[in-house]
Amino acid sequence: MAKMRVGVYPGTFDPITNGHMDIILRAARLVDRLVIGVAKNAGKGPIFSTEERVEIVREEIASQDHGLLERVEVRAFDNLLMHFAMSVNAAIIIRGLRAVSDFEYEFQMAGMNARLNPKIETVFLMATDRYQFISSRFVKEIGMLGGEVSHFVSPAVATRLQQRFGAPGAERG
Ligand code: ADP
Repeated sequence: MAKMRVGVYPGTFDPITNGHMDIILRAARLVDRLVIGVAKNAGKGPIFSTEERVEIVREEIASQDHGLLERVEVRAFDNLLMHFAMSVNAAIIIRGLRAVSDFEYEFQMAGMNARLNPKIETVFLMATDRYQFISSRFVKEIGMLGGEVSHFVSPAVATRLQQRFGAPGAERG
C-alpha cells in the first residue's frame, strides 16, 4: 500500500480567517491527510484560549462542504513544531505566504526547521490575492474597536469576536 502523505499546517489561528481557510482547502488537495496544528503560542498573547481556537477551527472545517472533513484533523500542540510534525508522521509542513511581509520570518523558520529535520520539507502556498491583506492581528484590532470583520472571517468567527469584545458600538469601560 502506498504511504499516506501527511501534511501539517501550523499556526496560532487567533482566530482563523478566510485567508487561513483558503490555505487549508488548497493544502488538503496536496496531501492524503492534513493536520492543522494549533500552536498554544502563549508568547503571542492570544485572545482565544488554545481550546477555543481548536474548537473554532473544527467548526469552520465542519461548516465547509468540500468533502474535506475526513482528511483534515485539528490538534493543539505545545512542543517544537518539528517534533509535532514528526509525531504525526508528516512529510511536509505547509505555510501560507503573504506578499513581502511574511517572507523574512518564514524564510528563517523554514531554514531552521530544515536543519532540525531535513526530511520534512516546508511548502509555501502563496496567499490568494483577495485574502492577501487578511491577518488575524488586524482582524483582532478591528474587532476590538467595534469595526466590521465580516469581510475577513466567517459569520461564526465574527460572532465569537463580538462576544469577546462586546457588540459593535457597545459602551465599554
Ligand atoms: P503564526 O503565529 O504561526 O504565524 P498564524 O495563525 O498567524 O500563525 O498563521 C498561520 C500561517 O498562515 C502562516 O504561515 C501565515 O503566514 C499564514 N497566513 C495567515 N494569514 C494568511 C492569509 N491571509 N493568506 C495566506 N496565508 C496566511
